[in-house]
Amino acid sequence: MCVGQNKHTRHSRGYETMGLKIWLDDKLVDEADAKISVFDHGLLYGDGVFEGIRVYNGKIFELEAHIDRLYRSAKAIRLAVPMSKDKLISSVKETVRANDVIGGYVRLVVTRGVGTLGLNPFACENGAVFIIADNIQLYPEEFYENGMKAISATTVRNHPLALPPQVKSLNYLNNILAKIEALDSNVAEAIMYNHEGYVAEATGDNVFIVTDGVIYTPPVETGALDGITRAVVIRLASQEKLQVMERNLTRFDLYVCDEFFLTGTAAEVIGVVEIDGRVVGDGKPGPITRLLRKKFYSYAHGKEK
Ligand code: PMP
Repeated sequence: MCVGQNKHTRHSRGYETMGLKIWLDDKLVDEADAKISVFDHGLLYGDGVFEGIRVYNGKIFELEAHIDRLYRSAKAIRLAVPMSKDKLISSVKETVRANDVIGGYVRLVVTRGVGTLGLNPFACENGAVFIIADNIQLYPEEFYENGMKAISATTVRNHPLALPPQVKSLNYLNNILAKIEALDSNVAEAIMYNHEGYVAEATGDNVFIVTDGVIYTPPVETGALDGITRAVVIRLASQEKLQVMERNLTRFDLYVCDEFFLTGTAAEVIGVVEIDGRVVGDGKPGPITRLLRKKFYSYAHGKEK
């Protein structure tokens, strides 16, 4: 996280603080009072679901889509969200307002709740809900201008039959292991492949390539999160009369494509200009990547950059 436009920030993240207001279960509390039990299965087992949501110009971006995805994730793991969708929506809005977030990021988390030391999720009390509204800047501006480098992770993406990739769960170790590989190689992102060797996604973003003017992205079933930014970008591309196809992609496809970009709530649309030491296109974010980034900005901010 970097300094942004909000006044509430913390020393532990490297900047001045007034303390955030955090939504915890049914009300806003001071950051110092926002505490979760050590017996919460979200912490003990990564048993829970979450969403990352952007705020642009004080407006919460694609909020309903995020809430719907959260409920779908929860249903898939038989977690009862202890709040109605309407209440959750109003709680997110209240948290954003209370922290004067104009441009920022919301983290909405539902854990399984307090239980025993055993795995049994049904021994847990009500799930805990917490909402943080703060600043975020995932990558430096320079990456957006010039593109970023990535590597192929050796860590295989979770098998879709082990954990459906559509579930945005608190269990991110698979992605974290791949992220460590990226950082060890001095690049910011790693591309993860599924058990069959097809591209699944990046550690926190969806993957797109452009070859001969056609945009390709792997189907979600390959092992990717059904990204909300991905869906927006597919829509924007279609409006621009660009052809988008869901297709299995191999490492070779990434090596020889004309353009390569990632999409995600935090990253937005960002070009990849090198993968495993192979330069993508002419080594700069390509024209379709730049166009979609521009269209995404206008759509998100309601104005041109
Ligand atoms: N894949 C993973 C693993 C993610 O964590 C995310 C969200 N950061 C994405 C893809 C992108 O999804 P969205 O556009 O909904 O943020």
